[in-house]
Amino acid sequence: MSLSRRDWFKSLSAAGLAAAVAAPGAQAREAKTVHPEDIGMLYDSTRCVGCRACTTACKEANGLPPDVVETDGAAYNAPHDLSATNKSILKLYREGDTAAFVKRQCMHCADPACVSACMAGALHKTDNGIVAYDKSVCVGCRYCQIACAFDVPKFTWTEPLPLIVKCEMCRHRPEGPACCEVCPRDAMITGTMAALTEEAHRRVNGDPDAYDPKVYGEHEAGGLHVLYLTGKAVPFEKLGLPDVPGQPIPQTSETIQHTLYKGFVAPAALFGLFTFAQYFNERRRQAAEDAGQEDKS
Ligand code: SF4
Ligand code: SF4
Ligand code: SF4
Repeated sequence: MSLSRRDWFKSLSAAGLAAAVAAPGAQAREAKTVHPEDIGMLYDSTRCVGCRACTTACKEANGLPPDVVETDGAAYNAPHDLSATNKSILKLYREGDTAAFVKRQCMHCADPACVSACMAGALHKTDNGIVAYDKSVCVGCRYCQIACAFDVPKFTWTEPLPLIVKCEMCRHRPEGPACCEVCPRDAMITGTMAALTEEAHRRVNGDPDAYDPKVYGEHEAGGLHVLYLTGKAVPFEKLGLPDVPGQPIPQTSETIQHTLYKGFVAPAALFGLFTFAQYFNERRRQAAEDAGQEDKS
């Protein structure tokens, strides 16, 4: 019997965790959480009409060039996915008569795996919950890319000194996230996490026949600063939002790491972190394949 890559990662992760938990002196590190006054965003797939005003505003606000595609002599901005020139992207899920849009960008995890993986301290959480990037200390190792369960950080491969590109919730703008400012349907809104959580449940409870009851991001990976709503006809997995556990990945990986460091086996500790990250990324890729998403371009 042969093991798939997915099974291999799964069994390896389980073995790593078991070893760490069984080790004498193993101590779970405390999870970082979402605070009610943190800033965040809410995306409601049932309201989104796919106009892409949000992703266009994102490019403008962040000084990113258009992704030009020429068809029949005309040039269009047609981004394909999150990339060095796209901090946010709009995708379309379609199956038979069912279709739904989904906007993707950094999820601003309460306990971010990218921050945990970055040894240079180039990624950090700000006081209001934004996961920010400091290019001046980035060494270009791309550990953050491997660690992120949502496949968010992208690399500027064409630059002589490549850097990471990802949404920083427009922290440079006093007005806040540009994508939320322009949405004509209130499908993408910003506010405090307390207000957004309340609004998400208000929408769901106001139309229980239309909405999936779950507010994605409330508990996933220990809580995200971007919440998602979807309609009953299109599960979150179909929108490419992975089924991640409620416990933050860094809490598990750092518990393994710190436990193993006590025994002076540092390489195994680092391996533990990436094994976990790889396992969740494998699940995400599989979910995306199963969902058969299309690019909205
Ligand atoms: S979604 Fe990825 S890049 Fe964004 S904060 Fe979470 S781990 Fe970091
Ligand atoms: S918050 Fe800013 S950087 Fe992030 S997706 Fe919206 S417009 Fe783009
Ligand atoms: S601006 Fe609003 S309605 Fe238009 S694509 Fe973005 S989220 Fe959807």
